Amino acid sequence: MNKQMKKTKLSTKIILAMVLGLIIGLLFNPEISLLPQNLYKLLESYAFAPIGKIFINAIKMLVVPMVFISLVNGVTQISDIKKLGRVGAKTLIFYLSTTALAITIGLSFALMIQPGSNSSLTSGNAAYEVSEAVNFIDILVGMVPTNPLQSMVEGNMLQVIVFSLLLGVSINSIPKQKSKIILDLFDSMNHLVLKMIDIVMLMAPIGVFSLILKVAATLGFDSLIKLSLYMITILLALFVHLTVVYTGSLVIFTKLNPIIFFKKFWNVMTLAFSTSSSNATLPVTMETVEKNFGVHKSIFGFTLPLGATVNMDGTAIMQGVATVFISQIFNVDLTLSQLLTVILTATLASIGTAGVPGVGMITLSMVLTSVGLPVEGIALIIGVDRILDMCRTVVNVTGDAVVTLIVAKSENEIDEEIFYSDKNLMLDSTN
Ligand code: ASP
Repeated sequence: MNKQMKKTKLSTKIILAMVLGLIIGLLFNPEISLLPQNLYKLLESYAFAPIGKIFINAIKMLVVPMVFISLVNGVTQISDIKKLGRVGAKTLIFYLSTTALAITIGLSFALMIQPGSNSSLTSGNAAYEVSEAVNFIDILVGMVPTNPLQSMVEGNMLQVIVFSLLLGVSINSIPKQKSKIILDLFDSMNHLVLKMIDIVMLMAPIGVFSLILKVAATLGFDSLIKLSLYMITILLALFVHLTVVYTGSLVIFTKLNPIIFFKKFWNVMTLAFSTSSSNATLPVTMETVEKNFGVHKSIFGFTLPLGATVNMDGTAIMQGVATVFISQIFNVDLTLSQLLTVILTATLASIGTAGVPGVGMITLSMVLTSVGLPVEGIALIIGVDRILDMCRTVVNVTGDAVVTLIVAKSENEIDEEIFYSDKNLMLDSTN
């Protein structure tokens, strides 16, 4: 069997595993109950839960080394400090502006569809344990670590990013004969991590199967029906952002073919959907952007780890819709200046949202507090958040890749021959 066939087989296997997990999970769901609950409990404890956890752990294991190594590598590839500043500024501008656009889309859909006005839920349903609202100044101060090893141990990505950037810039500033050894070391480590990803991804079909199965088996249909309009509003806004904003930006800023982009990015979207985590998806996003799109390390090594941590368009859409939804349930009319506050705080909240499952719900408290809405409102929507989290993570991750392509194109750092080649090289094992 040649290599191309082997790869196609793996990505097909991942999709098949997802569909199979969904079907079997639904059969186990207590509200359908075509397969016995006892059997589910047994399999869940001894097979699905441990397998899903091992898979997630294995990719998460690679996130800190990957972010650290690729950021240092990325920065040291741009020895020209002016170029580094330019790439950094462009990346941040695109990340922040697409996020602000995303919330605006979310808010517009929510104001048009009015999901909260027609809901059978009432504010009496709300009982949520209020965790402390996240404050932006705290996020800013917390970005600078006192102990970088501790940041790595705790997986505090913003701190790891700050430390890696400083290290990269410093390596660039010392004499070449002193920096050579460390540059070679980071380059070799980069190859090593990529190899590790290939190996871990061999487990993807069974891991994805276990993760999806659990979601389908534990789905609560009652809250799905009650919150259907809220969910539809978010899904519509996510879809529009994905198809109109991302496709439009790709065409306008890169002139690349968006169909080829989505075709070659499909695997990453599947993984984001099943893991609900931009961070867990990051290693595969990086490999795909390099091998399938021909983006140079100096760009994606910098933009992608940053994006997985600070760029959350899908999360911002959910926060916009959720804020309007909760305001409608509590019968509060949001003024124009409150809506602008939502756009601003949700953009900032997206920087503070870690790329792991469910965190968007926690930073939502910051947005709600900023316009004086009760944080307890979160209790109303948390029941369906798992499914929405899966969908918004797909958008979060796609946004990172689109901005990476835009920045790379503007710096002339895309090998378009690779982008347009037929080969879908993801999961190739030739590093
Ligand atoms: N799960 C999302 C992500 O990792 C973050 C969130 O919205 O909760 O991108």
